[in-house]
Order: sequence, then C-alpha cells, then structure tokens
Amino acid sequence: MPKFSIKKVYKKLIGVQDPEYYDKFMWNRLSIPKHRLIAWMAMKERLWTKDRLMQAGVVQSDECQFCVVGHETHIHRFFQCKNSHDFLQITKRWLGYNITPIVFHRIISYLRRSKRNGFQRLVMVAVLSGLMYQVWWARNEACWNGVVWRPEVVARRVQKLVVDRIFSVLPHKLFDANRVWLDSLRLNDV
Ligand SMILES: [Zn+2]
Repeated sequence: MPKFSIKKVYKKLIGVQDPEYYDKFMWNRLSIPKHRLIAWMAMKERLWTKDRLMQAGVVQSDECQFCVVGHETHIHRFFQCKNSHDFLQITKRWLGYNITPIVFHRIISYLRRSKRNGFQRLVMVAVLSGLMYQVWWARNEACWNGVVWRPEVVARRVQKLVVDRIFSVLPHKLFDANRVWLDSLRLNDV
C-alpha cells in the first residue's frame, strides 16, 4: 500500500517545489542584491518578525503595528495584512497580473507557470523581490521611526528602483518584444 504523506500533500496544495529551484529563480542578477537577500530571508521566514521576537523573549507582544488585529508572522506581514495587501494590489495592477497573494511559494509557482518568456519571468521575480524589500522597509520605518508611508509611494519606489536596475544590467541581446514590454513598465503609472 503506498505511503500517504500529509507533508507532500500540503506542499502540493500550496505549490511548494524543490527549494533549490526557488533559490535559483530568486538569485538572478536582474534583482537588486539587497532586495534578493530580504526576499530570500522572507521566503525562508528568517526575518525578525514580532512573532519570532516574542518567542526569543525580546518583545512582549506580536501584535501587528499596522492593523492591530493581526499577529506579525511572515505570512501576515507580507501577504495578509491590509497594509501589505495594498502594496501588492498596486504592483499587480502596474504589471497587469492577476495573482492572488496567498503565500510566497504560490506566487513563484504562478510566475513559473505563466505564459511569459524566461526573461519576463525573471523581471517579475525582481519586482517581487523589490516589493518584499520595500514592505519590510516600510514596516521598519513604522516600527522604529514612527513613519507610515502610503502604499502608492512605496509601490512607486519599487517601480523606479527595479526598472532602473534592470536597464543597468540589461543583456545586449534582447528581443524587441521584451524591450517594448520593459519600456511599458517604465512608463506605466503605478
Ligand atoms: Zn497587520
């Protein structure tokens, strides 16, 4: 009788693939190095979110500083919280993508299966990394400096930083269709 593995079924349901695959997908040169690092740490749940700080005895509460009703886990911080959700919605509109943000791995799987070509998928990953970085940056601004940035402002930062980076490391040989698509990303309003 074949063995039934809850872990395998769960991974299939949420779209988790081989971790090495994600690492390879994430660590591409179109992404800004510090964006890659924070996004990779977020994916591995290694950032010092409040739930981890509370477990370590550093803080007394893991209450989310934005919505107050949520607990600051990685999933909450990057996907579930209203604040982060707004960042994602604005960025999705800019990219013309209809991804339902559930978990990090799910978005990567969605991008992997999308009809975009390889170059465009890597651009999407660079945007996702930039978004993760800026969500974490905005969280730290609110936590440590008491400054709350509007989602539109943060999304525009992602657009500018990521597009500038991609143009600075652009391969010499690039299909016209990719160049036109990149120009549209640069010119579209966030
Ligand atoms: Zn929240």
